Amino acid sequence: MGFHTTFYLSYKLRLLLLFTLCLTVVGWATSSYFMGPIQETPKAKDFITNFKEAMFWGKKNTPSNKASVKTVLESCPPVSPHLRGQDKLIFKPDLTLEDVQAENPKVHRGRYRPEECKASQRVAILIPHRNRERHLTYLLEHLHPFLQRQQLEYGIYVIHQAGSKKFNRAKLLNVGYLEAIKDEIWDCFIFHDVDLVPENDWNLYKCEAQPKHLVVGRNSTGYRLRYSGYFGGVTALRREQFFKVNGFSNNYWGWGGEDDDLRLRVELHRMKIIRPMPNVGKYTMIFHTRDQGNEVNAKRMTLLHQVARVWRTDGLNSCVYKLLSVDYNPLYINITVDFWSSP
Ligand code: BGC
Repeated sequence: MGFHTTFYLSYKLRLLLLFTLCLTVVGWATSSYFMGPIQETPKAKDFITNFKEAMFWGKKNTPSNKASVKTVLESCPPVSPHLRGQDKLIFKPDLTLEDVQAENPKVHRGRYRPEECKASQRVAILIPHRNRERHLTYLLEHLHPFLQRQQLEYGIYVIHQAGSKKFNRAKLLNVGYLEAIKDEIWDCFIFHDVDLVPENDWNLYKCEAQPKHLVVGRNSTGYRLRYSGYFGGVTALRREQFFKVNGFSNNYWGWGGEDDDLRLRVELHRMKIIRPMPNVGKYTMIFHTRDQGNEVNAKRMTLLHQVARVWRTDGLNSCVYKLLSVDYNPLYINITVDFWSSP
């Protein structure tokens, strides 16, 4: 009995030991199966995050470029909270470009984009220029804060005509468009005279479904529209609207007519010119006398009669120019260009 009991107990004990051993072996063998995915989760999570970021930004999130991973910004509101309305413009006699630069620390290489939200449009401002440095300084001083209050992403291009041949505003603007699209996919182009300063920041420098004429009135004309088809001074066209009409004509040398020509191109394409309200589309014109090399163009009426016939072959697609330099200044991109011939 004693032997049996001992045997019986040790048999049970052995069974128990065997069972425990089996459990341990099975537990150890399956632990890697069950634990693996749990332990691996952070790594997998990291991988998926990195992959998504890489897909989104088109870059791999390696430590070297980790700093360049941007946070996704919300769209800017339809109406900027920073608008102030009508402004009393002051033109300080001793203002310098350095002063303007100090007043606009967030502008780099002529460009700006809001930090707080994603702008609805990328806007290129094109300013034809020759010998008007003072006007340019005043315009830049007002335009930079004006555009920032509108929460726009923008770049300012000054297209400078070298030499002393007759001035060609329209061709300079074609050059500005052709050069600016090398920098950025701008949504909207503002064609801007250097001597016109906007007074009211509700006059939005954005493009619409139709070409927009922004100068309803200026101080020098008692803030009245010059004539019903007037399309000069400051206009806004979408990239594709301007492309569709083949841009400006290249053949207007000296003062006048090129803006009427653009209006005819726009109308030929069944687009309709829109304007802001008169109390908003107000400008101050900085006084000046007629520049040398910008005499009234006596041929402008003849040219205007040809628009329907020539617009396809005279414009962006035939704009030939000698690019002398492109300088990324702190407050604007300066494009200097020479034209071989003028009549
Ligand atoms: C000219 C335009 C000019 C307008 C207003 C017209 O006669 O053709 O180029 O913008 O007058 O000055």
